[in-house]
Amino acid sequence: MDGEQSGAAEAALSALRRGEATLWRRPGPARLEADVAPLDAAETAEAQDRFGRFAPVLARLFPTGDWDGRVRSDLIAAPDDWSLLLKADHALPIAGSVKARGGVYEVLCHVESLAEAAGLRAPGEPTLRLLEPEAAAVLSRHRLAVASTGNLGFAVGVAARAFGLRTEAHMSREAKAWKKQRLRAIGAEVIEHAGDYGLAVVRARDGARAEGAYFVDDETSRRLFVGYSAAAAELAGQLRGQGVEICARRPLIVYLPCGVGGAPGGIAAGLKAIYGADVRVVFAEPVSSSCVLAALAAGGGRPVSVYDLGLANDTLADGLAVASASPLALDAIGRNIDAVAAVTDTAMLRWVARAWREAGLRLEPSAAAALAAAELTRARAPDLVPAEAVQVAWLTGGSLLPDAEFAGLLGQAEALQSV
Ligand SMILES: *Cc1c(COP(=O)(O)O)cnc(C)c1O
Repeated sequence: MDGEQSGAAEAALSALRRGEATLWRRPGPARLEADVAPLDAAETAEAQDRFGRFAPVLARLFPTGDWDGRVRSDLIAAPDDWSLLLKADHALPIAGSVKARGGVYEVLCHVESLAEAAGLRAPGEPTLRLLEPEAAAVLSRHRLAVASTGNLGFAVGVAARAFGLRTEAHMSREAKAWKKQRLRAIGAEVIEHAGDYGLAVVRARDGARAEGAYFVDDETSRRLFVGYSAAAAELAGQLRGQGVEICARRPLIVYLPCGVGGAPGGIAAGLKAIYGADVRVVFAEPVSSSCVLAALAAGGGRPVSVYDLGLANDTLADGLAVASASPLALDAIGRNIDAVAAVTDTAMLRWVARAWREAGLRLEPSAAAALAAAELTRARAPDLVPAEAVQVAWLTGGSLLPDAEFAGLLGQAEALQSV
C-alpha cells in the first residue's frame, strides 16, 4: 500500500470511529480478467437449473396466491427524484429477504443430495417425488443447523422445516423475537446465545459437527454464495426486458447492503461476470459494523474485526450487524468491490420512513442502507456515478416485518425529525 492509499484508508477508519458516514473507494482499477473467475459460470448455471427444478416443489410447500415457485423479485421504478431502479428482494417469497436466494438454495442443494444418497430420487427425475411420504420419512431423520443474527436463520429454518428436516437455529439473544417465535411455531429448535456472537457461531458449528448435523455456515458456504449469484442473470434479464442497455457510456451502478458479504458478494460476482467493467458495485454497511470496509482498507485480503478498530457492532440494521467479513466473500470479490459506503443508523431510519411515505415500501433498516448508500456515493464520489448511469438499489428485506415492529421504526424516524 503506498502512502496516499494508506492515508485515505486511515481517514476512512477515523471517520468510522467518530461514528460518521464515510465512503471508501478501491485504489486503482478493477482486475476483472484475472479475478472474476472464483465464480465458475457452470456453478451459476447449475444454480439457475436447480431453482427451476424445484419451482414446482416450492410452489406446493409455500402456496401463496398464484406463486409459481420461482424465487424472483420485481425490478421497479422509484419515485422520479430518487433516480433509481429498485430490486424488490424485500418482497421475496418464503423469507421476505435476500436470504431466500442463498439460504433457500443451500437447503435445496442439501435436500437433493440427501434424497439422492437415499436412493429416493435419481438425478434428472422429477423433484416432486421429494414431497411423497417415503421422502418425508427419510428427510425427517436428518438434522440441519444454522447460526445467524436473524434473517439467515429464518430463511434456512423455514425452508428446512418445510422439507421436514430437524432444524436447529442458533440466534443471538438480540435477534428479533418475532423471527424466533415464527421458527418455533413451525417446529424448529431455537437456541439463543448471549454475549459474543462470533463465539456462539463457533460453538454452534462444533456442536453441529459433533451431532452429525449439516451446518449452513454463513462465513464459508459456497452454496450460499452461488445461490445469491443467480440473481445477477435475473437482473440482467429485467434490464434487457425494460430496454435498458448497459455499456461503457451508460454503466450500471448497484448498491448492495452488506453484512458478512455473502449476499452482496455473490450478486456482485454474478454481475461482474455478465457486465465486466461496465458494472460498479457499491457495498453498503452500517458505520458501526463496517467489516468489509475495514478488511479492504487494511488491505491484507483477510477479515478484520470491527471490535479491534474500536467500533461497537451496534446497529439498528440487524441483517448487517456482524463484526467480521466472510473470508470466502473477500476472496471471491474483495479486489473488485468498487466502493463501500458506511452509512449511519440515522440515514437508514430516514430512508425507511421516506420509502414508506413516498413509495409505500415496507423496508427494514438493512434494506434502507442501499438507499442511504446511493445518496452518500453521489455526494462524495460524483465521478463514480456519471449522469447517464443506470442505478439500482437492492432492497434486501422488510416485507414480513410485523406491523408493530414497522410502526416502531417509523416512530424512531419521526423522533429524529423533531430534534
Ligand atoms: C443478510 C442480509 C444482508 C447481507 O447479506 P450478507 O451475506 O450477510 O452480506 C443484507 N440485507 C438483509 C436484509 C439481510 O438479511
